[in-house]
Amino acid sequence: MAENEKPRHIPLAQKYRPMTFADVVGQAHVTRTLKHALEMGRVANAYLFIGPRGIGKTTLSRIFAKALNCTNPHDHEPCGECENCKAITIGNSLDVTELDGASHNKVEDVKPIIDAVDFPPSASKYRVFIIDECHMLSTAAWNALLKTLEEPPPYVKFIFATTEGDKMLATIVSRCQRFDLRRIQTNEIVARLKHICEIEKVDAGDDALLAIARGAEGGMRDALSSLDQLISFKEDGKITEEDVLNIFGLVSRTALESLAGAILRGDAAAILNAVEEFDSAGRNMRRLSGELMQHFRNLVVYMALGAGTKSLEATPEQIKTLEEQAKKVDISRIYRIADALAEMEDKLRYTLSVRALMEMTLLRAGRIASVASVEELMRAVRQLAAGLPASVQSAPQPAPAKSEAPQRANPILDEPKMNRIIEAVGGTTIDVTR
Ligand SMILES: [Zn+2]
Repeated sequence: MAENEKPRHIPLAQKYRPMTFADVVGQAHVTRTLKHALEMGRVANAYLFIGPRGIGKTTLSRIFAKALNCTNPHDHEPCGECENCKAITIGNSLDVTELDGASHNKVEDVKPIIDAVDFPPSASKYRVFIIDECHMLSTAAWNALLKTLEEPPPYVKFIFATTEGDKMLATIVSRCQRFDLRRIQTNEIVARLKHICEIEKVDAGDDALLAIARGAEGGMRDALSSLDQLISFKEDGKITEEDVLNIFGLVSRTALESLAGAILRGDAAAILNAVEEFDSAGRNMRRLSGELMQHFRNLVVYMALGAGTKSLEATPEQIKTLEEQAKKVDISRIYRIADALAEMEDKLRYTLSVRALMEMTLLRAGRIASVASVEELMRAVRQLAAGLPASVQSAPQPAPAKSEAPQRANPILDEPKMNRIIEAVGGTTIDVTR
């Protein structure tokens, strides 16, 4: 075992902090634009990075600062080797100043920045000011900065980062190039964790890594901190899904998928058993509700766009299940299941009887899944009218059949007649589950 050689004291989030734009996971829409700006020599005076915590705003700010000041960039990526790059990495650069807006939010805190702007950079091309959690700056502090922000000397660049874009003053936002960083997709986090586990010689299964990513809810830093925690907790270096689930109070992938399957089958007994089991194992019901929603969301995306789409946030194992479940249900039923779940998420915030609400909602969702929708009935009527065998089965109809069917000669019901029927039954909003 290489246990003793590992420098355990460096947290993974720090050790594997991205050093170039190419290393940054899940923010290609931002890194591409920044690199392009560098390439064209069209760098703005101020940038504003908005996004949830732990997704790499500060890291991206530092990479950008390095790319601006690197003396030996490769393809507009910082080299990481020159004096400027090294100084920025260890937070020692005279020309790059970082300020934590949460703890330094008063006018006197930004005064040194305003004073420093007058002096050209000492060892690099630009003087860069990075202000983190910048929504915390007082209005007075922003007003003090405003003039500098409007017409900074050509060698001054500002990078602001915040989790709360809504709290930013419009006068500031309009003076910045704004970038919205997104939550990192679960499968992207899994891929990164897998890569790191290989280097660190950590034995963790795919489902264990998936559970870490699920627990981190789109934040790479949280995912890496959890992995750190698990490595020190498991001395044999072997991390199982069970370990991770216990830490986060999550339900296993397969248990979640089989609960979704029970809902789709309308299997009341299986639904109640699953809830009972999760409840007695102390699983987090609110998280379960969110994850179920995510599962059905993925199912809809899969059914609408197939497995190849980037919108699908799923690992290969999850996609296999989606493929199976998609065969057995009509998409309109899933929309209605999702409605029921969304209603529950809302109520979960206030209710004290979490388990009862969960049971009632999932049973209702199961009923929705097993009862045909008006759309399905109408399709069956159309098929009957066109002389085709009607089916209101759970299986979705293949797309080509739809376009051929209504074209048959002398259909008993034509389109206007159909519409009159739909009108007569109260339009498509009728709830046949009640
Ligand atoms: Zn460099």
